[in-house]
Amino acid sequence: MAKVALVTGASRGIGRATAEAFARAGYQVAANYCRSKEQIEQFSAQMEREGCAVIPVQADVSDPEQVERMVQAVQQQFGHIDVLVCNAGIARQGLLTDFSPADWRQMMAVNLDGTFYCCRSVLPGMIRRQSGCIITTSSIWGITGASCEVPYSAAKAGIIGLTRALAKEVGPSGIRVNCIAPGVIDTEMNGNLTPEVMAQLREETPLGTIGTPKQVADLALYLAGEGASFLTGQVISPNGGFLI
Ligand code: NAP
Repeated sequence: MAKVALVTGASRGIGRATAEAFARAGYQVAANYCRSKEQIEQFSAQMEREGCAVIPVQADVSDPEQVERMVQAVQQQFGHIDVLVCNAGIARQGLLTDFSPADWRQMMAVNLDGTFYCCRSVLPGMIRRQSGCIITTSSIWGITGASCEVPYSAAKAGIIGLTRALAKEVGPSGIRVNCIAPGVIDTEMNGNLTPEVMAQLREETPLGTIGTPKQVADLALYLAGEGASFLTGQVISPNGGFLI
């Protein structure tokens, strides 16, 4: 029986590459999106033409009821969920003093609360089956902190804490929980960075390049597989040596 993966934020960037990698590896993939219906439908149709199963599922991950409905629908359609990849996220730059309490709440709601809601909804099924794998998404800024990205850094640091604590809690139920903390990856999220800033980031990276969504997706696929069966509670950072 094909394994089932739910990937959040799969309409573009790292999430889309992750959904594609899992689908090409033979998983049935539920690809979550929030607003980008047209993009996800095009992606799903393209994967179907190639004989891969990628089913779009809409939900705003910052809304626990929408997340619960999404997880129930995926479980009804596929029977169960083997792998959850919590990838959906938002970022915003600015001085801390320029962030309103509502801006702060939004940053936490999508990045951190969204991860909590998705884990909370998939776990009962995984615990019943005594098997499952959860991959969360932090950032190098969640490890080191970034100037002018304090709310994002705080949310992403929270995801690391959630990952480590949850790995301890659900390890005895046969469920592994690991965190990917990417360095700078070529996606729309970095579309607002100037060419000069991107060039500087490349220069500061020992491997001399920024990362691709596929490089992060391949790591997620590895973490979900047999080769990573003794890995849990870990934070792994594909960053080209930016943080050593
Ligand atoms: P991206 O290109 O901006 O894509 C973000 C994805 O998240 C989209 O599919 C978007 O879907 C989805 N999303 C946003 N808000 C959502 C919500 N409320 N509910 C459900 N989905 C939502 O970002 P990316 O660069 O691929 O980043 C993916 C993850 O990696 C994020 O968690 C990000 O923080 C993390 N990360 C990225 C980098 C980087 O350099 N790119 C580095 C470190 C960590 P819709 O368009 O449908 O709303």
